[in-house]
Amino acid sequence: MNNKEIIDLDSKYIMQTYGRQPIALTHGEGVLIWDADGNQYTDFFAGIAVNALGQSHPKIIETIQKQAEKLIHASNVYYTEEQVKLAKKLVEITIFDRVFYANSGAEANEGAIKLARKYTGKGEIIATNNSFHGRTLVTVTATGQDKYKEPFKPLPPGFKHVPFGDSKAIADAISEDTAGILIEAIQGEGGVIVPPENYLKEVEAICREKDVLLILDEVQTGFGRTGEMFAYELYGIKPDIMTIAKALGSGYPIGGILARGEVANAFDYGDHGSTFGGNPLGCAVAMTVIDTIKDENLLENSKTVGKYLKNKLNQLKEKYDFIIDVRGSGLFLAVEINRESAEFANKMREKGFLINSTAGNVLRFAPPLIITTNHVDHMIVALDEVFSEI
Ligand SMILES: *Cc1c(COP(=O)(O)O)cnc(C)c1O
Repeated sequence: MNNKEIIDLDSKYIMQTYGRQPIALTHGEGVLIWDADGNQYTDFFAGIAVNALGQSHPKIIETIQKQAEKLIHASNVYYTEEQVKLAKKLVEITIFDRVFYANSGAEANEGAIKLARKYTGKGEIIATNNSFHGRTLVTVTATGQDKYKEPFKPLPPGFKHVPFGDSKAIADAISEDTAGILIEAIQGEGGVIVPPENYLKEVEAICREKDVLLILDEVQTGFGRTGEMFAYELYGIKPDIMTIAKALGSGYPIGGILARGEVANAFDYGDHGSTFGGNPLGCAVAMTVIDTIKDENLLENSKTVGKYLKNKLNQLKEKYDFIIDVRGSGLFLAVEINRESAEFANKMREKGFLINSTAGNVLRFAPPLIITTNHVDHMIVALDEVFSEI
């Protein structure tokens, strides 16, 4: 099928919830991806910061093939070696003590909220404006963007929102019934919003002082995206609970909740569960992702190529006064412009580069962590052309 044939069937058979780019992707290799008409793209988006290792990474292919021959799904009625090995690895590379496996970011956040409520015996969660935490009824309520929740009222109670970047607002919002603060280290979907320096440290101090839990949503920032394995390292904080998903499986759907200290023991038998959560195939892939990030020095690559890309974007900012801001960390970067960004993402696609437009006027760059400065150079030439055509 070509692009048009696929798009026509989509419009007939699939609920029309997505504002999709008008191409159907068929296959990829590394940072290159092809569509159903045979056009080639360099990927600067990684399927919303998911494909950390790019497409068709040999180690991922090998892992999936080997594991598929052994055991794909077991259910959580039984133990599997893959689950415990991945959990051990996650605990070893983080400050956390225990893991619960989910299948997606929303599910991880949903579970984290349950965990915080169970541990504290309190109901209220404070989240931030412009945040994104998922699409289930609870996580969309936690999300600080009205457009995602208006049509779905009544929404579950127990959520308060405060401006992102204002620690005093958090301190003021905390009440007797506050269980925790749910927050992204860098707001992703909201436009790669980097908080003011010290903000997260202040939030952490407030949580300690008022005895509420700090729940860090690292669904998008985790696994090298910001240049560190996790963004909590970047900001020098120690959340009580952290949620992960997106890049953990580099394309295979897997998520998780991590918790430390007594919080990690708060769920009792029967308190939470998932049929697919932690299935052996997903766990095997996630182990390979973590090992490969290490073996291929991808944190270093995220830092150095990220810095290189940011520098090039800043040079464009000097040149074009409609660029308001260049921001981000590692390979999690954004260009904010003073007009709609969607058209620019379209033009970049026509030139063979997949980049994302978010928050109305932001171009988001979140390429696979294996991207090179050479790819960046080509992309920047195209971006310069697109910007000069205004
Ligand atoms: C993508 C995202 C989610 C939701 O993840 P899904 O896998 O789409 O449910 C939650 N939080 C953040 C920060 C995200 O970027």
